Amino acid sequence: MFSFSPAIYLDYAATTPVDPAVREAMLPFLSDENFGNASSVHAFGQAARRAIDGARDTLAQAIGAQAGEIYFTSGGTEADNTALVGVLLAGRKRGRDHLVTTAIEHHAILDCTRFAQNALGFRVTVVPCDAEGFVDPEAVREAITDKTALVSVMHANNEVGTIQPVADIAAVARAAGAYFHTDAVQTFGQMPLAVDALGADLLTLSAHKIYGPKGVGALYVRTGTPFTPWLHGGQQEREKRAGTENAPGIVGFGKAVELLAGWRDGEAERLTRLRDNFITAICARVPDARLNGHPTHRLPNNVNLSFPGADGEALLLGLDMAGVAASSGSACASGSIEPSHVLLALGLPLAVAKSAVRFSLGRQTTADELARAAGIVADVAMSARGSGGGGV
Ligand code: PLP
Repeated sequence: MFSFSPAIYLDYAATTPVDPAVREAMLPFLSDENFGNASSVHAFGQAARRAIDGARDTLAQAIGAQAGEIYFTSGGTEADNTALVGVLLAGRKRGRDHLVTTAIEHHAILDCTRFAQNALGFRVTVVPCDAEGFVDPEAVREAITDKTALVSVMHANNEVGTIQPVADIAAVARAAGAYFHTDAVQTFGQMPLAVDALGADLLTLSAHKIYGPKGVGALYVRTGTPFTPWLHGGQQEREKRAGTENAPGIVGFGKAVELLAGWRDGEAERLTRLRDNFITAICARVPDARLNGHPTHRLPNNVNLSFPGADGEALLLGLDMAGVAASSGSACASGSIEPSHVLLALGLPLAVAKSAVRFSLGRQTTADELARAAGIVADVAMSARGSGGGGV
């Protein structure tokens, strides 16, 4: 169904290819067939409106929400920013100006907390994690005060794949009268999500991690959650997010979500097996390679390995030249020489953190590809080490 270049793509956590059925669903909204503005009262506009509302229904159903609780955004980044700023601004009116988050969040959260702190004057407490990337609900409890408006803890980490006990953390937040947000961008394509079971008052999703288009995401906001909009200029998204809706993107997102039910469970099992075999194959060839994150309580498609003595950037370049596409951490951190804030939060020494590579598997990944990739990874790791890059 997908056609691919011969290179071995192991960077599905950065992005996924658009499913051909998603592309087909989007095409009418990119042609002169269906180009209306969903805010227009005429038939062109109403066709776009119906399509957007259909996608909203599909998304809501997929996570156990009401359609009126889904707000489409330009992606996971905007949804994360909106959750934080929207709830904090509303919290201030209730006399709550404090946010609790963790050291291993995506930059869409962490950079936004800095903005909330430095530009908007909110107070922020950052909770650490343990050596496997777990956030302890007790540590969250200790960080919460009677001024805490929001607790934001990601569902699973995008770099090391550790899946957090979010339902327990949500219970702690709610018991203290705070609202709970979780970034589920990396989990949506890996496991079923239900906002009630997770205890989420707000939840972030992104289309391009589930074989949908880039530049579209969604924020779930539970009915009754105090929330102040911060994008102004139109009445779209029930006056919570101004701006003409990205109809093709939203339709594509809806289609990608509709397709999830047909493949997600089977893929999770298949990828878990492939993941574990891949880890075993690499560690057999590179004995001091170390797995970062929890060995089993991790995303089915995530492999994050350090190769002490090698440099992660050199490894990535070597892998790319040998036909393996991987990542040094989150996509946003690639290309910079900064060590991953997540690996440092896990307590890795700087040089070991800098020697890490993230491999993420997806629907086109095969056992044969991974067997070849394991050999290439071992060769590249050995020669990157031989060249003396990094040093421990
Ligand atoms: N949150 C997490 C956990 C992610 O992995 C990403 C993307 O890598 C984002 C947020 C940002 O999503 P988007 O690329 O849709 O802005």
